[in-house]
Amino acid sequence: MTTQETPTTQATQPATPIPHIPEGLPERIQHYIGGAFVDSVGGETFDVLDPVSNETYVQAAAGQKADIDLAVAAARKAFDEGPWPRMLPRARSRILNKIADIVESRDARLAELESFDSGLPITQALGQAQRAAENFRFFADLIVAQADDTYKVPGRQLNYVNRKPKGVAGLITPWNTPFMLESWKLAPALASGCTVVLKPAEFTPLSASLWADIFREAGVPDGVFNLVNGLGEEAGDALVKHTDVQLISFTGESSTGQLIFANCAPTLKGMSMELGGKSPAVIFADADLDAALDSTLFGVFSLNGERCTAGSRILVERPVYEQFIERYAARAKNIVVGDPHDPKTEVGALVHPEHFAKVMSYVEIGKSEGRLLAGGGRPAHLPTGNYVEPTVFADVAPDARIFQEEIFGPVVAITPFDTEEEALELANGVKYGLAAYIWTSNLERAHTFAQAVDSGMVWLNSHNVRDLRTPFGGVKASGLGHEGGYRSLDFYSDQQAVHITLGPVHTARFGANAPAAH
Ligand code: NAD
Repeated sequence: MTTQETPTTQATQPATPIPHIPEGLPERIQHYIGGAFVDSVGGETFDVLDPVSNETYVQAAAGQKADIDLAVAAARKAFDEGPWPRMLPRARSRILNKIADIVESRDARLAELESFDSGLPITQALGQAQRAAENFRFFADLIVAQADDTYKVPGRQLNYVNRKPKGVAGLITPWNTPFMLESWKLAPALASGCTVVLKPAEFTPLSASLWADIFREAGVPDGVFNLVNGLGEEAGDALVKHTDVQLISFTGESSTGQLIFANCAPTLKGMSMELGGKSPAVIFADADLDAALDSTLFGVFSLNGERCTAGSRILVERPVYEQFIERYAARAKNIVVGDPHDPKTEVGALVHPEHFAKVMSYVEIGKSEGRLLAGGGRPAHLPTGNYVEPTVFADVAPDARIFQEEIFGPVVAITPFDTEEEALELANGVKYGLAAYIWTSNLERAHTFAQAVDSGMVWLNSHNVRDLRTPFGGVKASGLGHEGGYRSLDFYSDQQAVHITLGPVHTARFGANAPAAH
């Protein structure tokens, strides 16, 4: 055990944490439709809480069908009549780069608001703001480098692809890293020339409300970006069912994805679904254990454990199992849980009391399903707010609920294995397939295991850092379709095939030899 791993005792004096309240919070959060901030047509609102005090700090407009209708009409008009879909890629690219510049220049403010609204530790929220800027810069580059195919049949035909933006894109996003995940959809949709209606998560509408001014300042024409706040079953549902929306890009829970899939069917919309996960981190005895330890701790406890690609099941080969769990638990006990605004905080407050209750219920379930090695409840020094101790369960059986179900909080299940075959069976033995992390120094095993594991993405001896050109998405219940790089631009575009005949047309001459009429 290194000195870093020595458990420390947390402060024992309980005190009610006081949230850091950012200056200049909006008096209310409105929709943004056709270039104007507006309330709901019927005046409906919903409460937005901060996760440290769990008190309402603002009311947000609760969009209904009437509000979605207005937003889609504005997006449609901008698509049919406005300059955006017809602009040269270079012109759109310049505006996307300006958006990236503005986001970068406001990263500290964005992080402050995001951390306040979502409970994410401020240092991690800052990284997410910078990543949002990077997403815009990446698609600004990609759209000008885009090339389409041409096929020549010598002397007979020329065939080429005429790429066109699809139309109005409906973007529905979750509350974990909200601003960054919105940018992951907004940037390729706008780069492709689509106009959009964004429906952000109702738990965290604050940072999304900043997009309107950012886009306006960067020169995005009115009506290209529209924002409707509200509940999933109201605003989200109306967007999914709207006949004038050509596609839905959704990130959220697998069960919500199933419902949206069914609701897209009557209007035959294009869909991209980035859904839940229960990703395995597989540690073989020949792995660099220090590196695996750092990575698997970060993998499940960063972003408060509210991370779709969290390695929330750790499978460890028997010879190093006891050593690994002992060191892992010692480090987990040492993680700094506290005020999201404090730069020293490693795990902040979970997003909402409903989600806190869900995570806590899994902590209780885990106590009868595994051996509790660390955590197991609320930290003693944080009597209020949605704080959960980093919680480690060992000896978890594969049929346990905490092995099978996505918890989406700072809770990890650790399970031993004896053979590579057993490790693969355990890794693949859940309904999800988003990410997998393999730790071994055996090159051949690293690749054969990676290729056999059911997951959209695999990291070998590393975690989560990826090039934006690579495919992003899951298999099984973790998603449908892959975005990332040109795949994202393909999703937001139609690729029309245009065929031109060169030279004489060779056609069977129907009716040319018909016998004379009787
Ligand atoms: P959620 O499914 O509850 O909500 C996501 C969004 O869908 C919200 O904006 C919500 O209002 C909306 N919504 C809910 N019901 C709807 C309906 N009937 N019609 C239309 N819209 C509806 O998910 P969440 O709790 O906000 O987010 C956490 C989930 O997201 C986790 O499962 C996590 O794994 C997943 N996630 C996946 C990825 C990925 O890339 N695969 C990334 C981040 C989060």
